Amino acid sequence: MAWREHVDVAIVGAGILGLATARALVLERPDLSVAVFDKEDGIARHQTGNNSGVIHAGVYYKPGSLKARLTLTGRAELVELCREHGVRYDLCGKVIVATRPDELPRLEALEGRATANGVAVERLDAAGLRELEPHAAGVAALHVPSTGIVDFPAVCGVLARAVTEKGQELHLGTPVTGLVEEAHSVVVEAGDEYLRAGVVVNCAGLQSDLVANLAPTSHTDVRVMPFRGEYYKLKAHRRDLVRNLIYPVPDPAFPFLGVHFTRMIGGGVEAGPNAVPALAREGYSWRQVHGRELGEVLRARSSWVLLRKYWRTELGELYRSASKAAFVKALQRLVPDVQAEDLVRGGAGVRAQAIAPDGTLLDDFAIVETARMVHVVNAPSPAATASLAIGRHIAGLVTAHL
Ligand SMILES: Cc1cc2nc3c(=O)[nH]c(=O)nc-3n(C[C@H](O)[C@H](O)[C@H](O)COP(=O)(O)OP(=O)(O)OC[C@H]3O[C@@H](n4cnc5c(N)ncnc54)[C@H](O)[C@@H]3O)c2cc1C
Repeated sequence: MAWREHVDVAIVGAGILGLATARALVLERPDLSVAVFDKEDGIARHQTGNNSGVIHAGVYYKPGSLKARLTLTGRAELVELCREHGVRYDLCGKVIVATRPDELPRLEALEGRATANGVAVERLDAAGLRELEPHAAGVAALHVPSTGIVDFPAVCGVLARAVTEKGQELHLGTPVTGLVEEAHSVVVEAGDEYLRAGVVVNCAGLQSDLVANLAPTSHTDVRVMPFRGEYYKLKAHRRDLVRNLIYPVPDPAFPFLGVHFTRMIGGGVEAGPNAVPALAREGYSWRQVHGRELGEVLRARSSWVLLRKYWRTELGELYRSASKAAFVKALQRLVPDVQAEDLVRGGAGVRAQAIAPDGTLLDDFAIVETARMVHVVNAPSPAATASLAIGRHIAGLVTAHL
């Protein structure tokens, strides 16, 4: 194995967080050398490239949490970057629909949370909802005008260019397979080379716990649980059922938002995603099974604690994954006119959701530091929306270590 030149900062992962961190470093510390490594042959090949493309407004998150703070600032920076670089986006707004009276207290709680986070929302009655979304049915709704849609892979293209145009390095097809933390640097094994980095940043998404565990100094008991989100697409002649984005009131005990309708920036309307346990970290269908990864999940006590807690919800999710009729039924609660024949199977994305040893799903973004490393161990939705703020936050942590 050959040795490459020393870099000040090595970043693992060219998803939106790795690239946003690299760009923030390039802008704030042009004196530093930065190298980004991704195991795939292109950027944004995992969560970032397979998500719903929504610019979240900041309604759902606990006031004062990293999620709430970084989403609000990151959202504004994202819109600014799109404007500046001609990336397609549309602040089209969304509605969160209470379909039954027993959902009203939760809708009210969401309204309170949005207000506490400084997000403007408007309460709608059934008639007000129909004015915005003529095919949606509900007893009441929240209108969130600042929600939008965007082309996240195109955002990543802008970030990657900002990094490489300044002469910094982006190495694709180069997996990071070893990390040894020493007193003043980290030895990184990347592809078929070694290099020494002043600081390593781990933005490896679905693999982030495994990357942290490459170095004994940053061993973590937090595990990534892969939750696949499967989508259907509305057939072209039925797209008029949905003007923009229609969401249900989420189950507050479950960290996912429930199947919804999303108009995509590239055209078309997607329905989903559900949330089923994937049988591989990069398991985009039931056929993709990874024996070792699955074995690890089944052996971990935390998986069983999680199952005990969510078995009812997960049974419903599994049923909706196996049965199109069940998926359609969930969608019909929001838009009664939608029928099975209006939908065709779409793609899927896999969420990296961190789980603590006691079986708790980590809610907030989580970053763990050692003397020379910064590991992003939990960055689920809306981390793409918040990415520019997260990148600046991480860049601040990195420079403090140098
Ligand atoms: C179905 C779904 C819908 C979502 N919808 C939204 C939404 O509408 N709005 C929103 O804001 N957020 C959404 N999210 C969340 C958002 O997509 C993620 O929070 C965000 O993309 C995380 O970015 P990342 O860079 O951390 O991870 P990723 O995009 O997964 O990037 C990680 C990268 O690390 C690389 N990597 C892994 N291991 C190694 C290694 N050993 N060596 C080198 N490279 C490695 C991978 O190849 C990958 O490119 C959604 C997520 C999913 C899955």
